[in-house]
Order: sequence, then C-alpha cells, then structure tokens
Amino acid sequence: MTAKVNSRINHLRRELSQRELNAIFVSQPENRRYLSGFTGSAGFLLVTEQEAILATDSRYTEQAAAQAPDYKILQISGNLSTWLPELVTSLNNGRLGFEDSHVVFALHRQLADTLKEAKPNLSLTPVEGLLESLRAFKEPEEIVLIARAAETTDTAFEEVTNRIQSGTTEKEVAWELEKSLHEHGSGAIAFQVIVASGPNAALPHHMPSERRIQPGEPVVIDIGARVGGYCGDLTRTICLGTPDDKFKQVYGTVLKAQSAAITGIKEGISGHDADALARAVIEEAGYGQAFGHSLGHGVGLAAHEEPRLGPNSDDILKNTMVFSIEPGIYLSGWGGVRIEDLAVMDNGRPRLLSNAKKWEPEVSS
Ligand code: ZN
Ligand code: ZN
Repeated sequence: MTAKVNSRINHLRRELSQRELNAIFVSQPENRRYLSGFTGSAGFLLVTEQEAILATDSRYTEQAAAQAPDYKILQISGNLSTWLPELVTSLNNGRLGFEDSHVVFALHRQLADTLKEAKPNLSLTPVEGLLESLRAFKEPEEIVLIARAAETTDTAFEEVTNRIQSGTTEKEVAWELEKSLHEHGSGAIAFQVIVASGPNAALPHHMPSERRIQPGEPVVIDIGARVGGYCGDLTRTICLGTPDDKFKQVYGTVLKAQSAAITGIKEGISGHDADALARAVIEEAGYGQAFGHSLGHGVGLAAHEEPRLGPNSDDILKNTMVFSIEPGIYLSGWGGVRIEDLAVMDNGRPRLLSNAKKWEPEVSS
C-alpha cells in the first residue's frame, strides 16, 4: 500500500504547487483513505510540501500508524483549535487548500477562526474537486478491486434472482441479495439494496417495501458489493412470468439506449455527449420525459464519484476512468426499467466489468 500512497502524495504535491498552495487540509473520508491508506472513520490529513500528517483520536492512532506509514500520526482530542495551530505555525505564509464541497459550515468557521489566531497570513483556499479528479483516474490495482466488486455483485444477483418466486416481498428479496453479497466476499455493501416492483419501479431510488412481487411486472434491482473498499454497482430489470408488450417495448428501448452508449463512448467524449448517445434513443421512442436522471457516474471508493455522465457534465472521459452506464425509463403508475453496467475506459473504449445476465426480449417471450 505504501508505494501507492507515496506516489499519490507526490502527485498531489505537484498539483498543490501548480495551484500555488502551501498545503492541503483533508477531511472527506474517501479522500482521506485514498491519500493515506487509513480506513478509520475519523481523522484529518495535512499534506504540506515536506510533511504528511494524519491527525486522529485515541481510538484510531494504532490503526493509523499501521495503515498509514507514510504519515506522521498525531493524536488529537477536542476542537481543532487545540491542535491545528501547532501544525500550521511552521508553514510559510500563503494558501491552505480545503475541500470546499465537503467541509461543512461549522468546520469551515473553526478552521477560519483558528487560522486567524494562529497563522493570519495563511489563507483558506477552496480546491474545488482536486482530490476527486485525481481519484477519477484508476490505478491498475484499483481497477482489479472494482472488477472483483463487480464480479461479486454479478454472482449475488444471479444466485438470488434465479430463485425469486412471485409473492415474495421486495424486502425479502433485498435481504437475500444483501446476504448473498456478503457470502461472496463483500464488505459493508456499497449502498442500500434497491428492489422496486410494479408501480414502485417508477421511482428510481425506491426503498424495498412489503409489496409482493407479481408475475408480468417489471422488477428493478440495483445492488453493489464492496471489495477492498471499492464499490460495485449493477442494475437489472427482471420480470417473473410472461412480460406484456409494454414491458417488452420499454425494456427494448432502454437496452438499445444502453448499447448505443456502450458502442458510442470513446476516450475524449464529454459526459454530456455520452449521455446524449443514450438519451437520443429514448427520446426517439417518445420517452424523453421519462428518463429523469443522468446516464452514469464514476465509481471507486465511493459509489458515486467523478466523472459524471449527464446532460450538464463537461467532464471528459479518459482511459482508466471507471463509470456506470445506466439509462432508465420511469412511467408513473406502471413501473420502470433501468439497466446498469460498470465499465472501465480501456484503450479508448469502455470495457464492461459487469457481466450479469440481462433479460433478453426475444428469448423469454
Ligand atoms: Zn446502481
Ligand atoms: Zn449507479
């Protein structure tokens, strides 16, 4: 781990000097883990040109020392005004970066007040997604872990969906999926399991309920394992029994939209243009209004991260980025269909990491 962390720190330092920052203060959990290897749930990093310090409380100092050998560990307690001054006094005057999209107002105020007292010529400067954009590019070891998370997710999905009977509740299916993810090696799952049947499937983020699954209706299942800290993310829409023509038509449209995106996405495309590949197919079928979310999102230590694939995204998709491709159609009162695969941009093209079986309109009808 340490060689990887070391190169991440070096990369960060180059970015800091380009942005004329003396140091960066990191509090966001995934960023903290990415930059240090420390998996504990509390702590702060201060990375300067020369130093890397991990400040955490007594519950975690031992774990921090073991997981983050590149860092000097500082045991802290209480408000940051009691320990931060000692760390910043040695810094040159200038700019201290902070994660403006994560730091809550109360923490920002503590930081600002503490600096004003201890180091008035060091100004707080927002870094606007600096660490997130580093995390968007995956190292080979990270891609291996995401691929394993995707594979574990596929296995759990297929194992459970092969034995779902009509009359089972959404909650029961969700629990079976969660158990199966763990049995196949998942750590804490990437996000709460979604099982949405019939009209519930019209809600993209429906939480599993006591509703009993009926034959012939759409069932949207969205799950993700977590392996070595990295997330999987998979959606399939299934149907018990014989689907009606409406299901076939909606499903066929979503599948076509997804393949248009998979075939059309190439290195250098913007998140906006990637989204448009799928959206055009759905609009052409007359369901433009029913595709209310973005085409996809980056996946890594967080289940949702950069890059973003959506109508308003200027992110550029590049080699080694990992992202989901997940068009959907949601029709109030009827239900919905979403199909989601994870892909890594590999030699200029998306290579799918998800391989769970998709319901095939021709075969099953
Ligand atoms: Zn998902
Ligand atoms: Zn997703």
